[in-house]
Amino acid sequence: MKRRAILKNLTVLPLVGGIFGSIIPTEKTVAETSTGNKRDVFKELGLKTFINAAGSYTAMTSCLMPQEVMDAINSSSKEFVMLEEVQDRVGEKIAAMCHAEAAFVTAGCWSALVLGTAGVLTGMDPKKVLQLPKLEGTGMKSEVIIQKSHINGYDHALTNTGVSIIQVETLEEAEAAINNKTAMLWFLNREAPVGKIQHKEFLALAKKHNLPTMIDIAADVPPVENLWKFNDMGFDLVCISGGKALCGPQSTGILMGKKELIAAARLSAPPKGGNIGRGMKVNKEEIIGMYVALDEYVKRDHEKEWKLWEDKISVVNNIVLQVDGVKTEVVIPPIANHNPSLSITWDPEKTKLTRNELAEKLRKGNPAIETVPGDFGNNNIRVTVFMLKPGQEKIVATRLKEELLSASI
Ligand SMILES: *Cc1c(COP(=O)(O)O)cnc(C)c1O
Repeated sequence: MKRRAILKNLTVLPLVGGIFGSIIPTEKTVAETSTGNKRDVFKELGLKTFINAAGSYTAMTSCLMPQEVMDAINSSSKEFVMLEEVQDRVGEKIAAMCHAEAAFVTAGCWSALVLGTAGVLTGMDPKKVLQLPKLEGTGMKSEVIIQKSHINGYDHALTNTGVSIIQVETLEEAEAAINNKTAMLWFLNREAPVGKIQHKEFLALAKKHNLPTMIDIAADVPPVENLWKFNDMGFDLVCISGGKALCGPQSTGILMGKKELIAAARLSAPPKGGNIGRGMKVNKEEIIGMYVALDEYVKRDHEKEWKLWEDKISVVNNIVLQVDGVKTEVVIPPIANHNPSLSITWDPEKTKLTRNELAEKLRKGNPAIETVPGDFGNNNIRVTVFMLKPGQEKIVATRLKEELLSASI
């Protein structure tokens, strides 16, 4: 019904009009909304925003979504669609981009780990889906093999399904640990350099024993190739965060891999209920936002973006080096949050300041700035630039210089 028709009906139905009066917008509220008199919710809630020179941290709300992602979220919020169909279509697109057979959007990388493991355990058996996380007496397997050096808290996602973790160090130990209860072999990509078993031999072992494999690559782009590298390599399931470097909604992730395992994992995921994943809901706006974020990320000029980060690093570098006794070093984490950051060290004989004091001064300043505690002692902090908005590198640099100078002896 046209608005005019509704109003006309209301005038002839005064009783109903009384009830609807508070729901149907009046001329005045419509006019107010269209003037774009936006509500400042941060202000209303007394929330302090800050410049993020720390990085993509869950506690710091991780990343800012690009306009394209927000446009997709807004436009998809205006109609109803079937949630499973959204997952089907978005899953096909994601799978094609990442060289996987299938994919779906999960509530973070963590829930990709839970749901993927659930799929491995239950297969397409609806009775087993209902039984999780109880494994005993169900005929389901119950052990996941992990390298000791890959134990990092994230394996708790796997044990949510009821499985036990079997820790091994060498390839021989891994092979000896395999038995008829072994459900899966799990790999944490970030810790690959410190593990004794590398990707290819890990996969060969799994293949020899006909066991599924899962890899966690939560924060491991850039490089963009990592989106498909591990699918190409032969991992059966690959889990990544949507809300870290991909800059999708913070509460999203992707589970991708073999078609039958993805189908099985979805039995434990919403909108289906009576399963361990019902609380891991992702709404259509987030699923679509995730898709657009991934698409934008893949299409981006990654070399240009890296160069932009380097330029921002050199802005900060040139300004902080003006302080007597300051030394800097560009630090690039090899895997996970792989982007240039600047490690800044000052001479405690010349500057009387601890790293915690400096961090606190930056945090309390205006604008507030968050940094990373340094890896090299009490007179060192680190700043990243990949979460900065254009121009913020100058503010960060100037504030650092100011605080370092004011603490000079
Ligand atoms: C962040 C992270 C996760 C969890 O990802 P969410 O998207 O926050 O659920 C899992 N594994 C690793 C290695 C991570 O860094």
